[in-house]
Amino acid sequence: MAAGRPAVVVHYHEISLKRGNRPLFLRHLQRNLLQATRDLGPLRLRQLPGRIVLDLEGHPKPDAVRDRAARVCGVSSVALAWRVPSTLDAMKGAVAGVIRDRTFRSFRISARRAFKTYPMTSVELNRALGAFVLEHVGRPEVRVDLGSPELDIRLEVLPQETMVYVEPTPGPGGLPVGVSGTVAGLLSGGIDSPVAAWRMMKRGCRVVFVHFHSVPYLPATSQAKARALVERLTQWQYRSPLFLVPLGEIQREVVLSVRPALRVVVYRRMMVRIAQRLGRQLGASALATGESLGQVASQTLANIARVDEVADMPVLRPLIGMDKLEITREAQQLGTFEISIEPDADCCTLFVPPHPATRVGAEEIAAAEARLDIERLVAMGVEGAQLETFEFPPRPAELASA
Ligand code: ATP
Ligand code: MG
Repeated sequence: MAAGRPAVVVHYHEISLKRGNRPLFLRHLQRNLLQATRDLGPLRLRQLPGRIVLDLEGHPKPDAVRDRAARVCGVSSVALAWRVPSTLDAMKGAVAGVIRDRTFRSFRISARRAFKTYPMTSVELNRALGAFVLEHVGRPEVRVDLGSPELDIRLEVLPQETMVYVEPTPGPGGLPVGVSGTVAGLLSGGIDSPVAAWRMMKRGCRVVFVHFHSVPYLPATSQAKARALVERLTQWQYRSPLFLVPLGEIQREVVLSVRPALRVVVYRRMMVRIAQRLGRQLGASALATGESLGQVASQTLANIARVDEVADMPVLRPLIGMDKLEITREAQQLGTFEISIEPDADCCTLFVPPHPATRVGAEEIAAAEARLDIERLVAMGVEGAQLETFEFPPRPAELASA
């Protein structure tokens, strides 16, 4: 018996809760799935009720397609499946195929009918296929376990075809990148801001990255880290602009007139002013930072308020309620942690006092900034910014250089 034709079944959750916007959200999801797998070989995408199927007949890399699809935001799970006609015999063939190279002592069949006119109920299918498996493996120690089986054999019965698979891979969930608009993500070389950017992607945002460096006052290592982080994060959004903004000269002027305890907040306000202007050039309507309440002196409620005073777009802080351990765990899962912990001279270590003020007042900061030519400094940052673009999957070298 032939096992069937290979396919990847993609499930989504939150999108199915949307009513009016569902077609739009699905179009984004479909486009992102094709984008994420575009270098792996030709495949056919089909939208079925409640799921997307990627047909992989003759495809050279089915596992790679599954793994890429499992990273697409909006996806709740993916599985490499066998497609067969919706007849009991064909289903048995596919079930025999998926269990062929597996050893297990307990299993269950989980059949789901996506349409209720199929002549057998799911309970009847489970029984018939369960009996088939017991007979097929022919080992007395193998038994059915509905509670926690070693192998869960799933069938999705659709009118034209049935998908049979085991061990679905969880996806990130959330919404497809692109449905929620664009944010400018302030990216340091630290652990937190890459996680924050990823969280925004998972809520459907495209992220335009903005990194501030202090070249030539500090070495260019922070830029290299920012590039490596953006390259990694581009795996979730496929195309990422990165602005590299010189902050060193601005910091030098701040140091000349602002007392040490206030400097960190002044730097942050400069970053926000510059980032929102750069972000707006590429369509951003909000900023995102990696701040978590109380983690360091600049992240107290008072100092966050000082930063927001100069923002004319919302400043989103997706990590605000997370602790360092939770953030670190997520960074490890994303693969950004290893890059973030590379030693580096962060721009904020330059000209920063050991004890920044934790509660800077509005008048205090306004008085300090009155001695600076803010507009000129902002223009200096905006005009000095360099824009780079990252793509995933990377384009073949011959195309890039053409
Ligand atoms: P991170 O781990 O993201 O560096 P942090 O715990 O070091 O965060 P801060 O240094 O106070 O915290 O930075 C707070 C936020 O300000 C960062 O998460 C980031 O969004 C932004 N930020 C800080 N430094 C830079 C920088 N050099 N370029 C761009 N954004 C920055
Ligand atoms: Mg930092």
